[in-house]
Amino acid sequence: MTEVFKFGGASVKDAEGIKNLARIVKLNKDKQLLVVISAMGKTTNALEELTNAYVNQQEDIHQIFERIKEYHESIMMQLFEDPGHPVFDDIANSFVEIDWILEEEPHEDYDYIYDQIVSLGELVSTKIVSTYLDHIGIKNKWLDARSFIHTDNTYREGQVNWTKTEAAIQAKVSPILMDRVVITQGFIGGTSENFTTTLGREGSDYTAAIFASCLKAAAVTIWKDVPGVLNADPKLFPDTIKYEELSYRDALEMTYYGATVIHPKTIKPLQNSGIPLLVKPFLAPEENGTKITESNVFITEPAIIVKKNQVLVTISTKDLAFITEEHLCEIYGLLAQAHVKTNTMQLSAISFSLGFDWDERKFTKLSSLLRDNYAFKYNAGLTLITVRHYKPDVLKKLVDGKTVLLEQLSRHTAQLVVKL
Ligand code: ASP
Ligand code: MG
Repeated sequence: MTEVFKFGGASVKDAEGIKNLARIVKLNKDKQLLVVISAMGKTTNALEELTNAYVNQQEDIHQIFERIKEYHESIMMQLFEDPGHPVFDDIANSFVEIDWILEEEPHEDYDYIYDQIVSLGELVSTKIVSTYLDHIGIKNKWLDARSFIHTDNTYREGQVNWTKTEAAIQAKVSPILMDRVVITQGFIGGTSENFTTTLGREGSDYTAAIFASCLKAAAVTIWKDVPGVLNADPKLFPDTIKYEELSYRDALEMTYYGATVIHPKTIKPLQNSGIPLLVKPFLAPEENGTKITESNVFITEPAIIVKKNQVLVTISTKDLAFITEEHLCEIYGLLAQAHVKTNTMQLSAISFSLGFDWDERKFTKLSSLLRDNYAFKYNAGLTLITVRHYKPDVLKKLVDGKTVLLEQLSRHTAQLVVKL
């Protein structure tokens, strides 16, 4: 049976990380293994910066690009030592694809350009890792995920064509897995015209779930720099506990509201196919981590999820008439047009409040759409705190000293939009 491993940027951020990945692959050499890897360290952020510099035709384009190349070169130097190793040319050639783009006038579709540039992070990281595994004698095959993860052309949020994807993976990947490890990229896909798409930031987990589901894998393991799924972000809270087990349902709710440990789209395909998801520490592969399954385990320690950079928009009709179903329908249409996804909402007689992630482009679009028929006010720089399986004392402590702009309690989940 196949297993799918996913290594994120933090686990391959330096040569040590890649050596550790190789150790984990070696420990699991008896399995049929497909390994999904993200861009190294903060490369995706750097490539985003490069994309913006290019679109705005800034002067520092080449400096930004040089930094990205140097970062990869220094990792390769530590892994391969011999500067004459073919990997150096191979990676330089991959980066030339970006040079070609940078020479042209920026295309008008930002999201399209973004995907063509940012995807290089995953392409080079997997080439380096695959070549390194070869170098130390681990037989593997590098696959271009764009030929397997088929998407439509919604750039920056490619929608997967499951039928085509499943057919491609089953026909071509399964036979390779019989005698070697498969190394492929997370986060990226391809359109029917062979353009590159991405699946949304942090989307490599989702890629792992897609491959697993199409291969009917026995399990997916996401290797992380934490011991497993914790009840809160240890950077924000001093006392966290690790869950031994979680239900798909809890994991889904937690990730949807911003628990960054797993990408929210990851759970559904695994749940549909009944494939367990393990979250394990890459520095202690023998530990159990957290196991996410259909189980009905009830978590006793409330899960606290903090999502920063929220905006709360309060909409009313221009003449302060009641908000009707027709208005709500129209407002939702506008949200969809602006690609805004709401995290919270609350309706009163004459106003409708919506909370969502701040994104300047989307916000500007939405404002211009709303302006025709509605009046609205907004507050930015807010924080959304979601508590799954909340307890009153936990909530009380969380809001202490903060201004609460919106509060909602349902049976299992409490949500608070606060100003810190
Ligand atoms: N490299 C991409 C990102 O940083 C995808 C991922 O890491 O999952 O968003
Ligand atoms: Mg990442």
